[in-house]
Amino acid sequence: MHLEGSCHCGSVKFSVTAHQPIPFMRCYCSICRKTAGGGGYAINLGADASTMRVTGKRHLRVYQAQLHEEGKPPHTSSGRRHFCGRCGSALWLFDPQWPELIHPHASAIDTPLPVPPHSAHIMLGSKAGWVAVEGKRGDTRFDAYPDFSLAEWHERHAPKTSPKPAAKAARKSAKR
Ligand SMILES: [Zn+2]
Ligand SMILES: [Zn+2]
Repeated sequence: MHLEGSCHCGSVKFSVTAHQPIPFMRCYCSICRKTAGGGGYAINLGADASTMRVTGKRHLRVYQAQLHEEGKPPHTSSGRRHFCGRCGSALWLFDPQWPELIHPHASAIDTPLPVPPHSAHIMLGSKAGWVAVEGKRGDTRFDAYPDFSLAEWHERHAPKTSPKPAAKAARKSAKR
Protein backbone atom coordinates (compact mmCIF):
# COMPACT_ATOMS: atom_id res chain seq x y z
CA MET A 1 0.00 0.00 0.00
CA HIS A 2 1.34 3.43 -0.94
CA LEU A 3 1.43 5.76 2.05
CA GLU A 4 1.92 9.50 2.26
CA GLY A 5 2.92 11.06 5.56
CA SER A 6 3.97 14.37 7.07
CA CYS A 7 4.73 16.14 10.30
CA HIS A 8 2.25 18.62 11.73
CA CYS A 9 4.00 21.79 10.53
CA GLY A 10 4.52 20.35 7.03
CA SER A 11 8.31 20.82 6.98
CA VAL A 12 8.84 17.07 6.49
CA LYS A 13 6.83 15.01 4.02
CA PHE A 14 7.41 11.41 3.02
CA SER A 15 6.03 8.55 0.99
CA VAL A 16 6.68 4.85 1.33
CA THR A 17 5.29 1.47 0.28
CA ALA A 18 3.99 -0.45 3.27
CA HIS A 19 3.41 -4.19 3.28
CA GLN A 20 2.18 -3.93 6.88
CA PRO A 21 -0.12 -0.87 6.80
CA ILE A 22 -2.74 -1.99 9.35
CA PRO A 23 -2.38 0.04 12.57
CA PHE A 24 -3.05 -2.81 14.99
CA MET A 25 0.00 -2.91 17.29
CA ARG A 26 -0.10 -0.59 20.28
CA CYS A 27 3.18 -0.27 22.15
CA TYR A 28 2.96 0.96 25.74
CA CYS A 29 6.72 1.12 26.42
CA SER A 30 8.06 4.29 28.02
CA ILE A 31 9.86 5.40 24.85
CA CYS A 32 6.71 5.17 22.73
CA ARG A 33 4.62 6.79 25.43
CA LYS A 34 6.98 9.73 25.99
CA THR A 35 8.01 10.38 22.40
CA ALA A 36 4.89 9.53 20.43
CA GLY A 37 2.09 8.25 22.61
CA GLY A 38 -0.10 10.94 24.14
CA GLY A 39 -2.76 8.34 24.93
CA GLY A 40 -0.24 6.01 26.52
CA TYR A 41 0.92 4.07 23.47
CA ALA A 42 2.22 4.51 19.92
CA ILE A 43 1.46 2.57 16.74
CA ASN A 44 4.08 1.78 14.13
CA LEU A 45 3.56 0.32 10.65
CA GLY A 46 5.88 -1.83 8.58
CA ALA A 47 7.21 -0.43 5.30
CA ASP A 48 9.88 -1.06 2.69
CA ALA A 49 12.86 1.26 3.33
CA SER A 50 14.02 1.20 -0.30
CA THR A 51 10.77 2.93 -1.38
CA MET A 52 11.07 5.79 1.12
CA ARG A 53 11.09 9.32 -0.32
CA VAL A 54 11.54 12.27 2.01
CA THR A 55 11.31 16.03 1.48
CA GLY A 56 12.47 18.49 4.14
CA LYS A 57 15.23 16.15 5.34
CA ARG A 58 17.12 19.07 6.89
CA HIS A 59 14.35 19.41 9.47
CA LEU A 60 14.71 15.79 10.59
CA ARG A 61 16.16 15.03 14.00
CA VAL A 62 17.00 11.59 15.33
CA TYR A 63 16.58 10.27 18.85
CA GLN A 64 18.31 7.13 20.10
CA ALA A 65 17.05 6.15 23.52
CA GLN A 66 19.25 5.02 26.39
CA LEU A 67 18.08 1.56 27.43
CA HIS A 68 18.22 0.32 30.99
CA GLU A 69 17.39 -3.35 30.68
CA GLU A 70 17.58 -5.78 33.54
CA GLY A 71 20.84 -7.69 33.65
CA LYS A 72 22.48 -5.50 31.00
CA PRO A 73 24.64 -2.39 31.29
CA PRO A 74 22.86 0.77 30.06
CA HIS A 75 23.26 1.09 26.31
CA THR A 76 22.05 3.17 23.39
CA SER A 77 19.13 1.75 21.40
CA SER A 78 19.97 0.93 17.79
CA GLY A 79 16.48 2.22 16.88
CA ARG A 80 16.65 5.68 15.34
CA ARG A 81 13.47 7.59 16.03
CA HIS A 82 13.04 10.31 13.44
CA PHE A 83 11.02 13.40 14.28
CA CYS A 84 10.55 16.92 12.98
CA GLY A 85 12.90 19.40 14.64
CA ARG A 86 10.44 22.24 14.08
CA CYS A 87 7.16 20.80 15.41
CA GLY A 88 8.29 17.68 17.25
CA SER A 89 6.02 15.23 15.41
CA ALA A 90 7.21 11.63 15.67
CA LEU A 91 7.62 10.32 12.12
CA TRP A 92 9.28 6.92 11.85
CA LEU A 93 11.71 4.48 13.38
CA PHE A 94 14.66 3.05 11.47
CA ASP A 95 16.99 0.41 12.85
CA PRO A 96 20.18 -0.34 10.87
CA GLN A 97 19.99 -3.93 12.16
CA TRP A 98 17.05 -4.34 9.73
CA PRO A 99 18.03 -1.90 6.97
CA GLU A 100 15.29 -3.08 4.59
CA LEU A 101 12.54 -1.96 7.00
CA ILE A 102 11.13 1.37 8.06
CA HIS A 103 8.44 1.80 10.72
CA PRO A 104 6.34 4.92 10.16
CA HIS A 105 4.14 6.09 13.01
CA ALA A 106 0.48 5.64 12.06
CA SER A 107 -0.09 9.11 13.53
CA ALA A 108 2.13 10.67 10.84
CA ILE A 109 0.28 9.07 7.91
CA ASP A 110 -2.12 11.16 5.84
CA THR A 111 -3.36 8.36 3.57
CA PRO A 112 -6.51 6.73 5.03
CA LEU A 113 -5.33 3.54 6.73
CA PRO A 114 -7.22 0.24 6.99
CA VAL A 115 -9.17 -0.17 10.24
CA PRO A 116 -7.65 -3.04 12.25
CA PRO A 117 -10.03 -5.97 12.92
CA HIS A 118 -8.48 -6.17 16.39
CA SER A 119 -5.37 -4.92 18.14
CA ALA A 120 -2.30 -6.27 19.89
CA HIS A 121 -1.27 -4.55 23.11
CA ILE A 122 2.46 -4.95 23.74
CA MET A 123 5.01 -3.98 26.41
CA LEU A 124 2.22 -3.82 28.98
CA GLY A 125 4.85 -4.46 31.65
CA SER A 126 6.04 -0.89 31.01
CA LYS A 127 2.57 0.66 30.83
CA ALA A 128 1.91 3.80 32.89
CA GLY A 129 -0.52 3.19 35.76
CA TRP A 130 -3.02 5.75 34.51
CA VAL A 131 -3.35 4.15 31.08
CA ALA A 132 -6.44 1.98 30.68
CA VAL A 133 -6.00 -0.64 27.97
CA GLU A 134 -9.02 -0.10 25.76
CA GLY A 135 -9.33 -3.29 23.83
CA LYS A 136 -11.98 -5.33 22.16
CA ARG A 137 -12.73 -9.00 21.87
CA GLY A 138 -10.02 -10.82 19.93
CA ASP A 139 -7.27 -8.45 21.07
CA THR A 140 -4.02 -9.99 22.24
CA ARG A 141 -1.93 -8.73 25.16
CA PHE A 142 1.76 -9.10 25.95
CA ASP A 143 3.84 -7.97 28.92
CA ALA A 144 6.84 -7.56 26.62
CA TYR A 145 7.26 -8.28 22.90
CA PRO A 146 4.54 -10.17 21.00
CA ASP A 147 5.10 -13.73 19.81
CA PHE A 148 4.63 -12.67 16.17
CA SER A 149 6.11 -10.03 13.88
CA LEU A 150 4.22 -7.28 12.06
CA ALA A 151 4.69 -9.28 8.86
CA GLU A 152 3.37 -12.52 10.38
CA TRP A 153 0.26 -10.79 11.73
CA HIS A 154 -0.45 -9.30 8.32
CA GLU A 155 -0.01 -12.66 6.62
CA ARG A 156 -2.60 -14.11 8.99
CA HIS A 157 -5.07 -11.24 8.97
CA ALA A 158 -4.59 -9.47 5.66
CA PRO A 159 -3.48 -11.87 2.93
CA LYS A 160 -1.42 -10.08 0.29
CA THR A 161 -3.84 -11.31 -2.38
CA SER A 162 -6.63 -9.28 -0.75
CA PRO A 163 -6.87 -6.01 -2.67
CA LYS A 164 -8.83 -4.14 0.02
CA PRO A 165 -7.93 -4.96 3.61
CA ALA A 166 -9.88 -1.88 4.72
CA ALA A 167 -13.15 -3.15 3.26
CA LYS A 168 -12.56 -6.56 4.76
CA ALA A 169 -11.91 -5.12 8.21
CA ALA A 170 -15.03 -2.96 7.96
CA ARG A 171 -17.21 -5.96 7.05
CA LYS A 172 -15.80 -7.96 9.93
CA SER A 173 -16.49 -5.31 12.54
CA ALA A 174 -19.97 -4.68 11.10
CA LYS A 175 -20.89 -8.27 11.94
CA ARG A 176 -20.32 -7.75 15.64
ZN1 LIG B 1 7.16 19.66 11.53
ZN1 LIG C 1 7.45 1.07 22.33
